[in-house]
Amino acid sequence: MMRLGFNMFKPFRQHLTYFSNNLSNKKGLVLGVYTEEGKPFKLTAAAEYYNKVSNGQLVKHIELVGGNIKQGKSYVFWGLDNTFQSVAVVGLGKEKKGFHRTELMDQDKETIRTAAASGCEALNSMGIHDITFESFGDAETSAEGSLLSSWKFQGVRTKKDPLPTVNLLEVPGLQEQSLWYLGSIKAQSQNFARFLSDTPSNLMTPSIFCQNVEEALKNLNIKIEIHDKKWAEELGMGSFLSVNKGSDEPPKFLELTYTNAVDKPMVLIGKGVTFDAGGISLKPATCMDEMRGDMGGAACVVATLQAVAAMKLEANLKVLVPLVENMPSGSATKPGDVVRAMNGKTICVDNTDAEGRLILADALVYSKRFVPKWILDVATLTGAMRVALGNAAAGVFTNSDELYRLLQEAGAKTGDRVWRFPLWDHYSTQITKYDAFDVNNVGKAKGGGSCTAAAFLKEFVPENTDWIHMDIAGVMGPDCGVKYLPKGMSGRPTRTLIEFIRSQVKK
Ligand SMILES: [Zn+2]
Repeated sequence: MMRLGFNMFKPFRQHLTYFSNNLSNKKGLVLGVYTEEGKPFKLTAAAEYYNKVSNGQLVKHIELVGGNIKQGKSYVFWGLDNTFQSVAVVGLGKEKKGFHRTELMDQDKETIRTAAASGCEALNSMGIHDITFESFGDAETSAEGSLLSSWKFQGVRTKKDPLPTVNLLEVPGLQEQSLWYLGSIKAQSQNFARFLSDTPSNLMTPSIFCQNVEEALKNLNIKIEIHDKKWAEELGMGSFLSVNKGSDEPPKFLELTYTNAVDKPMVLIGKGVTFDAGGISLKPATCMDEMRGDMGGAACVVATLQAVAAMKLEANLKVLVPLVENMPSGSATKPGDVVRAMNGKTICVDNTDAEGRLILADALVYSKRFVPKWILDVATLTGAMRVALGNAAAGVFTNSDELYRLLQEAGAKTGDRVWRFPLWDHYSTQITKYDAFDVNNVGKAKGGGSCTAAAFLKEFVPENTDWIHMDIAGVMGPDCGVKYLPKGMSGRPTRTLIEFIRSQVKK
């Protein structure tokens, strides 16, 4: 079996010696400049340092191009010193822009990610693949921008482009390595989610997904259980199993446990449809290949767990991933068929392409036995969410104002934002008022497809439990409109989930 590998946490040099004499590889450096009123420009602390090291060459060269480098734009200078053959200087705009209330965005952090991407692109396109980045005053965020923008999915291409090696510029007096390390964990976890999501579906079946997870999470204090079809049958997961009936690939139900605190577990559930043809309610052919990414939710929750464990956060985390293929065949579920979920509720599968909610339903019911602190499910669930928000943010449905506040704060910090939608009875009524069964998987009403999908899930959430549903169909990729994420599946919102969990545990 051909299998793709993802080189997780590939070692990057943690301690760069500034005065290196090794000139065998061309080295590049990315530095920033602010704009300041009354002055042509203002150097960052690291750029100040480099200016001294280069005997004022940096300032001289910036002045030669007029001094005013626009935000997000890069100028590349050559031969300023003996260590770096080329230096990309990126405009950062005004210093300390702060939090933008309407945008719900920490603008300084987003500027840094974008600046790192701009410098990386400028140097990489000139054949420089050994790139050192300054911290821009926030090494954690600089690492995110550098590592996200320097990685791209190349899959099974025989001749791959070299991906840059990424380092932090050490400046005397600044202790930034540990922050850089944290940022690199977040970015590399998101890159892992991008890898899982972008891999073609014949190379990322439910079974192969599990193998990848086993390999990536080994040595991280995580218990890995891969449940099979028989296990799900014994538990009565008729809703989950109904989706895979048309596929020749066996379904899997992945259960991952990370225990590092005395507390109830936080439960993450990710939709793992490794390919969604729509089943008998077949999708149109155009862009159907994108449905290889219909396990983006699964990829995000696994990647989040990986980061939480790598950071050794004091938390208990349970990750549940139902994995299936949704295919049409003689044995596939047909529109109008009725199946029974693990909690006994009967579901009419009116449309076999509304399958994500069917596999999540049983995972939600199953999570009850762990007495969760809260449950958060992530799913590329509805095309309607793409219509509503485009690729700007993930849609959120929740019964907890407090959890939503934390999630929104996390999104403002990571630049990968969320936006809340209603969980009203109005929508529940549309899927439950039937004579012959308990729930319909699409319902009668036209419009509001993301809201009825969330209302469907609500029918399976354990009572009195805080719950968040994230619909990530709009942000999954393959073109998510973010400057520091090259084209391909996006791995969004992995970093937001990591921050969300981090904000709730002991520092
Ligand atoms: Zn579907």
